[in-house]
Amino acid sequence: MSLILPAEGVAFEFTVPVVVIGGGAAGMIAALAAHERGAAVLVLERDALPQGSTALSAGLIPAPGTRWQRAAGIEDSPERFAADIIAKAKGEPDPEDVSRVARTVGPALEWLADRYGLPFSVIDNFTYPGHSARRMHGLPSRSGAELIDRLRGAVEAAGIDVLCEAQVTALHADGARVRGVEVTRPDGSVERVGCAALILACNGYGGNRALVERHVPELADALYFGHPGNQGDALLWGEALGAATRHLSGHQGHGSVAHPAGILVTWATVTEGGVQVNTEGRRFSNEAQGYSEQAAVVLRQPDGIAWTVFDERIATVARQFEDFRQAEAMGAVLGADDPADLARQMKVDAAALAATLDEVERLKAAGEADGFGRNFAGAAPLVAPYRAVRVTGALFHTQGGLVVDDDARVLAKTPDGQGGPLPNLYAAGGAACGVSGAKASGYLSGNGLLTAVALGRIAGAAAADAVKKEGNP
Ligand SMILES: Cc1cc2nc3c(=O)[nH]c(=O)nc-3n(C[C@H](O)[C@H](O)[C@H](O)COP(=O)(O)OP(=O)(O)OC[C@H]3O[C@@H](n4cnc5c(N)ncnc54)[C@H](O)[C@@H]3O)c2cc1C
Repeated sequence: MSLILPAEGVAFEFTVPVVVIGGGAAGMIAALAAHERGAAVLVLERDALPQGSTALSAGLIPAPGTRWQRAAGIEDSPERFAADIIAKAKGEPDPEDVSRVARTVGPALEWLADRYGLPFSVIDNFTYPGHSARRMHGLPSRSGAELIDRLRGAVEAAGIDVLCEAQVTALHADGARVRGVEVTRPDGSVERVGCAALILACNGYGGNRALVERHVPELADALYFGHPGNQGDALLWGEALGAATRHLSGHQGHGSVAHPAGILVTWATVTEGGVQVNTEGRRFSNEAQGYSEQAAVVLRQPDGIAWTVFDERIATVARQFEDFRQAEAMGAVLGADDPADLARQMKVDAAALAATLDEVERLKAAGEADGFGRNFAGAAPLVAPYRAVRVTGALFHTQGGLVVDDDARVLAKTPDGQGGPLPNLYAAGGAACGVSGAKASGYLSGNGLLTAVALGRIAGAAAADAVKKEGNP
């Protein structure tokens, strides 16, 4: 299958100034922004209903300096957010990439609320690890399904065309200028749609095992927890057109997916004072480093399995998340009045688990760090009734991708990195290089939707402006 086909002599069935590939958060937001700037837009989505990884996510978006934060008395700024992102990724991300999204995501959320009625609020009772302010925003259900449903509703209300069951299988280009796309329908029929600007909003390559093996080998056999349609098309097309790429090994993993239930168990189970033990009943890591890097750590344990052990107080915090309530409803969360009973239900050695929990309580009481480097100072003790959930490590999404500029235009690859922008190609969300650097540990909560929302809006507006300036096709 050719990724890039010639454009010369192709009779496009119809032509739309701005074509967006992918109907997740990035694509829907790009479409709204382009439409608002007066461009006719078409969204092409391979599924029958646009959902993407966005629908699988908790729909939580970090944003600094918003009016919701101000109302809750939370002090924050884009500079502070940028510093948190850079600190988590140990200085790896390009500061301009970071500043671009940190500056624009707050205004983008307020725009979505004011123009399209998305009722965001800030989570003000829980600080996400690595964030120095409470800046995670979500919709009432705190679910990505609500986010994508509301975005789809806004796109439909604006009269923007969304063509579903329309998988883009190749681009038509003259050199690096994209002239249109080849769309394959479920019955195998093919249509060709011309465009003046193309926005890649079809996420990363988490669903493409060969690309994961190449770029994220430590998770080659991990459960992929994102949307299966994310096959790395943006990356492959970009590379074929001569685009610069960066941090392709970067990704968001998660060390707490209930197994075999396959439900995300909130990391609050750990940050609030819980611990992870392996099937021998022993701790094996500093769990507090972050859930993303913990995916590979859990997978290195016997059978690729761990147990997250916590208590009812922590379960009460976790119950604000629908996934956790679902995990409980499915019986994935065990309950016991003492460690011996818990060990029996977990089928781990009772003496080993008791010794592990005793040591954790000793560290908490003394406010000391353990041999892995986790500091238990200030952590509340675990008390009966105890809870435990069997988990594994999973790949959520990739964070590397196409390098973009301030207009979300995809930049050309040069021998020393990146050059100027390709003529009419834009990228947003998981299609673009994120701000997490090259390692799982660089992922700060919310970095995924951050680039979907911020770059989606930028790409849509810039593509519409460019098309207006250069003239419609
Ligand atoms: C379980 C889970 C929880 C998460 N929680 C959070 C969170 O709380 N906060 C956060 O910031 N991030 C979170 N993320 C990450 C977040 O979901 C993604 O970063 C974000 O949704 C990416 O948005 P997107 O629009 O780029 O991609 P998507 O939402 O995946 O949309 C891409 C769309 O492109 C379509 N597509 C792909 N290829 C083609 C093609 N060739 N032709 C046509 N259509 C195509 C796909 O079908 C899909 O609908 C989570 C991810 C997972 C898996």
